[in-house]
Amino acid sequence: MEISKSKKLFSHAQNFIPGGVNSPVRAFRAVGGEPLFIKKAEGAYLFDEDGNEFIELINSWGPMILGHNHPKIKAAVLEAMETGTSFGAPSAKEVDIAELIVSMVPSVEKVRMVNSGTEATMSAIRVARGYTGRDKFIKLEGHYHGHGDSFLIAAGSGAMTMGDPDSPGVTKGTAKDTLVAPYNDLEAVEKLVAANKGEIAALILEPVPGNMGLCLPKEGYLKGLREICTREGMVLIFDEVMTGFRLAKGGAQELYGVIPDMTTLGKIIGGGMPVGAYGGKKEIMDFVSPAGPVYQAGTLSGNPIAMAAGLAMLTHLNEHPEEYARLNHIGELISEGILNINKELGLNYTVNRLGSMCSMFFTDHEVYDFETAKTSDTGLFGKYFQAMLKRGVYLAPSQFESLFLSTALTDEIIEKILDAHRESMKEIHK
Ligand code: PMP
Repeated sequence: MEISKSKKLFSHAQNFIPGGVNSPVRAFRAVGGEPLFIKKAEGAYLFDEDGNEFIELINSWGPMILGHNHPKIKAAVLEAMETGTSFGAPSAKEVDIAELIVSMVPSVEKVRMVNSGTEATMSAIRVARGYTGRDKFIKLEGHYHGHGDSFLIAAGSGAMTMGDPDSPGVTKGTAKDTLVAPYNDLEAVEKLVAANKGEIAALILEPVPGNMGLCLPKEGYLKGLREICTREGMVLIFDEVMTGFRLAKGGAQELYGVIPDMTTLGKIIGGGMPVGAYGGKKEIMDFVSPAGPVYQAGTLSGNPIAMAAGLAMLTHLNEHPEEYARLNHIGELISEGILNINKELGLNYTVNRLGSMCSMFFTDHEVYDFETAKTSDTGLFGKYFQAMLKRGVYLAPSQFESLFLSTALTDEIIEKILDAHRESMKEIHK
């Protein structure tokens, strides 16, 4: 594969951008080799600067659920461009999207738009602290909530990939208020609650975590957390930045029938533009300035172009619930296909899937938390990644991420993915 233009760009980029990239996992550190510079994306495909084309299985880490450059989103953005790129004042589309989100996500009665998932989670924790008058909160090992200081403790995603789940630069003072428990372990949460009685503002988690590779909640786990939070007066926050509008219209909370007090959203909500949001019960959200005392603001929040893209995306999903059946079908074809091929080859790797999120772990252990995810052979994953890339399939460049499938994947493209999988697995197990 010819990648000379990407190589040249990466080499040049390193003079001006730390590590040559604007977000760490993009650098391909965990899989070896150098990142490809993308020129264009359309439907189920990415095209790099050297003219190579790749079937897309990350979709900008989640947002492009309908595939790239979807005509409805493109049209909405172009139309919005005609009236200006930013107002810094309220506009009608902000009200439309807020009303739509409230109608789609069960826990959300009021919502505030921000510019990223990171902002959404940082703000949600501040509001939960303001609302309860307590300082501490619980996060779970291997869960990623963006790069806010208090979340960079036992963090998943890029922090886990780069081997720095606890980042330097986070002060001891900040870290002491973040309590950490393993996922899928109610007992561990009970112990933290007992040891910090009346001091914990919130428990935040990815209900279906994708940032240590995809893991699923054990039967009764989410319900158990709901009960603990209600009993202890703690705000239960579901971080649905990945799962929101993906696992179902109303996210994981709809799917599992467990309703948190607050929800953080991102990715799909912006249709590919930089958007996040946090919302929840009225009585909690009315603590947010200017309704209440907890300050949170943003010059570009509710940006008209971003709102137009997000509104087009959410409107489509709201009006076409059959997309979720299609996404599930695509997920099933891919995960079943992978399992069958692995079986043919005498390989027994764990595949976790829910709807259009999926991870294959290079381990035969069941994977349901940070520790079990870490039993994966990351070196072998790196080889698999490169073998798939060579065959034109673009995966997340780390074992500790989920795939995000899009509706643009046709049966014919799925066949190509499975052929590439078969050949790649043969190559790396020679
Ligand atoms: N929460 C979760 C669950 C995420 O997956 C991410 C990003 N992958 C974030 C928060 C942070 O979002 P952003 O990268 O938009 O800041």
